[in-house]
Amino acid sequence: MDKALAQKVIDRIASAKSPALFTHLRPDGDAFGSLLGLAHVLKDRGQNPSLVQDVPDQLPSEADLFVVLDTSTRERVGKKTTDWKKPVDVVIDHHVSNPGFGTLNLIVPEIPATAGVLYRLFEMAGWKVSPATATCLYAGLSTDTGSFRYRGTDAQTLRIAASLVDLGADPSDIAKHCYLSVTPQRYQLKKLTIETLSLKDNKKSGFLTIFPDFYSKSGAKSEDTEGIIEEVTCIQGLEVASLFEFGPEGGLRVSLRSKGRVDVNAIASSLGGGGHRAAAGIRFPKDGEKNRDRVLAAISKAISALED
Ligand code: 5GP
Ligand code: MN
Repeated sequence: MDKALAQKVIDRIASAKSPALFTHLRPDGDAFGSLLGLAHVLKDRGQNPSLVQDVPDQLPSEADLFVVLDTSTRERVGKKTTDWKKPVDVVIDHHVSNPGFGTLNLIVPEIPATAGVLYRLFEMAGWKVSPATATCLYAGLSTDTGSFRYRGTDAQTLRIAASLVDLGADPSDIAKHCYLSVTPQRYQLKKLTIETLSLKDNKKSGFLTIFPDFYSKSGAKSEDTEGIIEEVTCIQGLEVASLFEFGPEGGLRVSLRSKGRVDVNAIASSLGGGGHRAAAGIRFPKDGEKNRDRVLAAISKAISALED
């Protein structure tokens, strides 16, 4: 982590009275954990943060700092925020594809979750990490590393996790809330989706499809797709897993996962999306089927380029 840059971020955040904290659309564990973790720290310091989940039409007028966490592109804060007059003051993130769309950009790809970047920042600033903060940050770190299984997990990741446990995070309790609390509706959506599995490229890639009527059939919500793709990644011999979600208006949302040999960020970036080497995504507003075929062709090409 660039210490001089981190210090600038600390100074900028410390001088704000009412920072407005944003994260990406369809927030995941790291997005929520980072948002709530930073909010707790700022509250404990006597600042007055606001957490923004439902994107308003304008930046709240009392906000004197515009912070975006865990968000790889400006658009993923919310389309309607892109024409706000106030620029994003501070971006804190870990996505390698993040172009740095803020005035200050603390982007640390060597830490596998934004929550981990925040922990290092708080440590450097000497800001108190309460048990509540530690719990939020641990949840972000755990979920974004697939419970410390993905490639980005290294000694530093585990040291951050250990420090958070020292500070009051309870791994078993957090795991219960993050992984052992699936609603029956979410489970039903997963079941319908897994039935669509199709293996190709010599069983080195596999894809799942979510059709619009799966929501009415299961009663699930759009955020309930989180984690389904991991059910494909676990297949032995598979290199790339993808999930295609067709929207009711013909759009397509794509999730890509790699076991490490294929760079799915390169595939996603070449088609207008982004993410990380092992987990990336793309959104197409229209031409769902045509775009699915483009993605599948790019995956086949990447797999055929691998040496056995
Ligand atoms: P997921 O498949 O869980 O939605 O996303 C995996 C990763 O890819 C996340 O880190 C996310 O930031 C990134 N990602 C997902 N969708 C998009 C997208 O449409 N554009 C970009 N630039 N990144 C995305
Ligand atoms: Mn993240």
